[in-house]
Amino acid sequence: MVGDRDVLVIYDERVLSHRPEAEEEFLPGRMDKRIRGILDGLGVEAKWSYPEHPGRVIAVRELLEAEPIAGVRITTGQPATREQLSRVHTTSYLENLHELEGKQAWLDVDTTAVSAGSLEAAEVAAGSTIAAVDAVFEKKVQSAFVICRPPGHHANAVRARGFCLFNNIAVAAAHAQFQWDIERVLIIDWDAHHGNGTQDIFDADPSVMFFDTHRAAPFYPGTGDMEEIGEGLGEGTTVNVPLPEDAGDLAIINAFENILVPAVEWFKPELILVSAGMDAHRTELCLNMSYDGYSAMAGIVQRLADQYCDGRLVMALEGGYNPDTLARCTHRVLEVMAGAAPATVREPGVEEVAEIAEFHRSAFAEME
Ligand SMILES: [Zn+2]
Repeated sequence: MVGDRDVLVIYDERVLSHRPEAEEEFLPGRMDKRIRGILDGLGVEAKWSYPEHPGRVIAVRELLEAEPIAGVRITTGQPATREQLSRVHTTSYLENLHELEGKQAWLDVDTTAVSAGSLEAAEVAAGSTIAAVDAVFEKKVQSAFVICRPPGHHANAVRARGFCLFNNIAVAAAHAQFQWDIERVLIIDWDAHHGNGTQDIFDADPSVMFFDTHRAAPFYPGTGDMEEIGEGLGEGTTVNVPLPEDAGDLAIINAFENILVPAVEWFKPELILVSAGMDAHRTELCLNMSYDGYSAMAGIVQRLADQYCDGRLVMALEGGYNPDTLARCTHRVLEVMAGAAPATVREPGVEEVAEIAEFHRSAFAEME
């Protein structure tokens, strides 16, 4: 039951200082002109604002305060060091971002940007994911969840994309192997978008298995085909499950049970990390999951962590842009991590129709 397990939640207010504002000045240049052109062309009455905003994580924190979960303890995080980040990002990329500290600039035409406080926020997001890994290896807690931003899974070794600056989950995987001397790490990415950055980073690395359920291309970022299975020595340790937009709980739980479970039996990870995007919930209009679906996914992941990793499980927030839904999905996942029985998924309406059919049956039956 809830409270049977200890879960560490890391929430650090420094991640709120990443806040690009469209109406303020950006570093001038080609990209600013191009993006301004794109935004002007949207033709919307309301002004464009950065979708990946601080209100997202504030909503999660507020729901945890309003509806506390037994077994969940909240603490602050820490910034990652340059050395920790350089395990997955190039020196030149890190230097480029450092040069932008204190400035507001676009990093990609997909509107990914930095504001004055973004570098520290991104360092704290990555460093807090590292702290979560340390906490589970030190056995201070059984599992941990990092309520961080900016997200990470679209950033690769050399490039920011999709609102991601540092690849938090990749930095944490590399740290676990370096610091805790483990060989095999499993990264599960259940965000609705393909985790192209994470896949890129570990594409040829057989020590990190990457499993990703997502909405199929051409949906952003356009990668994650079934046939992308890793390359070189890493061939076979990338597992992509591209899905149609209306795929919901039954399809996705099926993918976890019938594709992830056998992959994990073969790979035998020593740590499970989750890129926990909450934008597969149906209100985000990317995929068609429910809150019960998130609870059930968390249940499978927790079961695998118990079975193979002595329970070691760390999740870090990725996407989710409707603050209310994002907060509720996170809450449901945390309940399962804290010991609640996971929900079982069903096709909505099927049981109701069976009952209603029973109600109407006598009306149309022939009188005896
Ligand atoms: Zn996403």
